[in-house]
Amino acid sequence: VKSYTEPKLKGFVPLLSSWESFYTRNLYRRIRDCWNRPIASRPGAEFDIMERVSPDFGWNFEFTGRNVKALNFGSYNYLGFADSQTLCGGQVEDVTRSYGVGVSASRQELGYLDIHRELDRVTAEFLGVEEAITVPMGFATNSMNMPALVSKGCLILSDELNHASLILGARLSGAMIRVYKHNNMKDLETKLREAVCEGQPRTHRPWKKILIVVEGVYSMEGSIVRLPEIVRLKKKYKAYIYLDEAHSIGAMGPNGKGVVDYFGLDPRDIDIMMGTFTKSFGSCGGYIGGSRSLIQHLRATSHSAIYSCAMSPPVTQQVIATMRIIMGQDGTHEGRKRIEQLKWNTRYFRKSLHEKGFILYGNKDSPVVPLLLYMPVKIAMFSRESLKRGLGTVVVGFPATPLIEARARFCISAAHTKEMLDKALDIIDEVGDLLKLKYSTMPVPDF
Ligand code: PMP
Repeated sequence: VKSYTEPKLKGFVPLLSSWESFYTRNLYRRIRDCWNRPIASRPGAEFDIMERVSPDFGWNFEFTGRNVKALNFGSYNYLGFADSQTLCGGQVEDVTRSYGVGVSASRQELGYLDIHRELDRVTAEFLGVEEAITVPMGFATNSMNMPALVSKGCLILSDELNHASLILGARLSGAMIRVYKHNNMKDLETKLREAVCEGQPRTHRPWKKILIVVEGVYSMEGSIVRLPEIVRLKKKYKAYIYLDEAHSIGAMGPNGKGVVDYFGLDPRDIDIMMGTFTKSFGSCGGYIGGSRSLIQHLRATSHSAIYSCAMSPPVTQQVIATMRIIMGQDGTHEGRKRIEQLKWNTRYFRKSLHEKGFILYGNKDSPVVPLLLYMPVKIAMFSRESLKRGLGTVVVGFPATPLIEARARFCISAAHTKEMLDKALDIIDEVGDLLKLKYSTMPVPDF
């Protein structure tokens, strides 16, 4: 970077000019060890992280060749299936022997296996909808399917904290996008009212379709969507709902069926139910569930079904097996036990952090627990001091959060034992004292 000299061409913008910002060049380089850490094990309740030669704040990572064992409070392994001893329902070898690990074709060509069909069926049954389509990547499920649903002349009303994949899908669709304040129903209703009244007096609705795009649990905030109110608004204004349950499916609700289950709503009120298999199912990929006509339309038109290789067989089998466990179809109570364990762990962990004086974001039932560090300078210190004591977690800062709302984010898992939770809490307590993070003077909320 030092030897780089600016070319003297008028109007020429160097390819990496935006990379040379203060944040990326000066800050990110110094705290880069907090992200992109190679893991040398499964993403279970504990994991092995490759040890870095320290101190090394340059661009090149050097490793000692040893691994550090740490508690894992960073992976989205909500129900503990990523670390299960019975991966793919104990059928990893059978599936790999029968189908291989890759299918070498898209669904529409010759990549559609019988187990893909079964996964589609099990997913629809799990969600309580007519049909479902599954996609090898969660990100592409949003970014590639939304353009098949709305286009120019349609309006998307998008929560301001929606995930990048939803934002990309909305932009690729060509629809008009309007952003409303996070989980703010007043703002959403104002924007809906404006949208249906626009251009009056006129005899027809100004927008072909209005799509409200939301997430179930917001992964940076730990907040839960106000779904019952959104359903009411969508009916009142004749709009559609696109619900991304990446962080809530499996993890929320008495039956693990996401926020729809959590609020006791009818799944048919949600027009487009989307989710990923990356989190609660310990696998990879995503789905869209809904009416038969919606899914058949996506099968025929979605870029993810036509132009992209279908899901890997062991990955597919893992989702089928875990969904069956959650639904209790394996003949045990394992699924229910895990759902209840996750709920207990989440509340215990949150309550204990509140009692220690930390400021947390999010709902008491959200397995995503953000702890406010506020100052960007504390991001790296929190990450390093925690890891030094045996706790691996995720730290987040600008641009994923506002500049002065840096935070550490803990993801709770049913696989965490009480001893692990207590050990993690002790470490956070110690690091909290060291970095002066116990900002709260508020009483502990009710649990
Ligand atoms: N939607 C949301 C809300 C997400 O948080 C994520 C990723 N964490 C995705 C979609 C993309 O899913 P995947 O990681 O499975 O590609």
